Amino acid sequence: MYHYDSFMAELEQKNPAQPEFIQAAKEVVESIIDVVNENPAYLNAKILERITEPDRVITFKVEWEDDNGDVQVNRGYRIQFNNAIGPYKGGLRFHPSVTLGTLKFLGFEQTFKNSLTTLPMGGAKGGSDFNTKGKSDNEIMRFCRSFMTELYRYIGPSTDVPAGDIGVGAREIGYLYGQYKRMMIENTGVLTGKGQNWGGSLIRPEATGFGAMYFAHEMVEAQQDTMKGKTISVSGFGNVAWGAVMKASELGAKVVTISGPDGYIHDPEGIDTQEKWDYMLELRASNNDVVEPYAKRFGAKFVKGRKPWEVPVDMAFPCAIQNELDLQDAELLISNGVSYVVETSNMGCTTEAVQKFQAQKILFAPGKAANAGGVAVSGLEMSQNSMKLRWSKEEVDGRLHEIMQNIHASCITEGTMPDGYVDYVRGANIAGFKKVADTMLQLGY
Ligand code: GLU
Repeated sequence: MYHYDSFMAELEQKNPAQPEFIQAAKEVVESIIDVVNENPAYLNAKILERITEPDRVITFKVEWEDDNGDVQVNRGYRIQFNNAIGPYKGGLRFHPSVTLGTLKFLGFEQTFKNSLTTLPMGGAKGGSDFNTKGKSDNEIMRFCRSFMTELYRYIGPSTDVPAGDIGVGAREIGYLYGQYKRMMIENTGVLTGKGQNWGGSLIRPEATGFGAMYFAHEMVEAQQDTMKGKTISVSGFGNVAWGAVMKASELGAKVVTISGPDGYIHDPEGIDTQEKWDYMLELRASNNDVVEPYAKRFGAKFVKGRKPWEVPVDMAFPCAIQNELDLQDAELLISNGVSYVVETSNMGCTTEAVQKFQAQKILFAPGKAANAGGVAVSGLEMSQNSMKLRWSKEEVDGRLHEIMQNIHASCITEGTMPDGYVDYVRGANIAGFKKVADTMLQLGY
């Protein structure tokens, strides 16, 4: 029998100074502990110890030269967390906040998320404390080249397939892939999120945001409600927010906020024109990491240094970074009448915020379910690369939609409580866990 408190105390002792990893592990262990305790096969196999320990942690030094000719040193990582159900799969994050603990939490979450997609992908994550903000294109290229010169020996199209995450978009994937190809003389699907001319999948850039909206659509329909006319707040202004904003519009809802490290934009008319969507891409590509210019360009309001959760909305979609929505934000959203919270960033809400939403019976979707569309289309990119062909937009989008519907259905199956409330956190954790755990048992050790 596992006891939650003693298991977590041991895990914490074993992984000191990794608060985000412990936060992610607590949430999963809390959801699955009864399932594990009721199954002697899981108990005998020490499944909790095995599933919370990464298969492999790789760290390496990344040396590169900046535009002044000065040498710079960063740290690179790849956490190969679990490959029971398929090759390691997960993004690379370049952000100054990146530590071993951050990437361990992300790799751990990725394992369950990838399991939920129904595609055969294991979980991994990697990245660096490299800050892309203010860097020139050449500096980014030199950094990516050095990073891949170390990483290439640990990855491969059937071993480990990295992709993008915060700070790693099409440009970075291009430079990374270029260096891999130079060293290996190989055009394989070793990375996903590739450009459209060299093996990338249609809809991959939009996939995370589209997927989150498809998931939200399922949540709303399960309540005999509709997306039409809903007001939505979104945080962030990158790829994920961009996809979410576009799909919301198509579904008849209205997104009224985006945000950056500098503050948030409130556009009560709605971020619902091609011009506004294209401008989001421009803002991101500028590498300045600010949203304020949007306000001047479209006559919207800019609120400096604050988060968008103070704007009254029906639905909230955190799309930026972990722990971006805390208890105070949750209380504000609730008092302003929010009905649905769709965590689109990985662990975007603090534990206290999630508990508050659930206590108030607000429907809350965790990131590992709601944002799985990104990695799902990465999986579809791998399929297309293996078959050496390319699917149409409709084909990829249709499959993405179906995958998100399936994930939602799994959450309903495992997460519906006796009073009818759907605990999506519990649902996603149990459904994601069972498949990985059963496979681990079947494969032995
Ligand atoms: N970084 C994304 C995520 O958090 C995508 C990973 C991928 O496409 O491999 O799921």
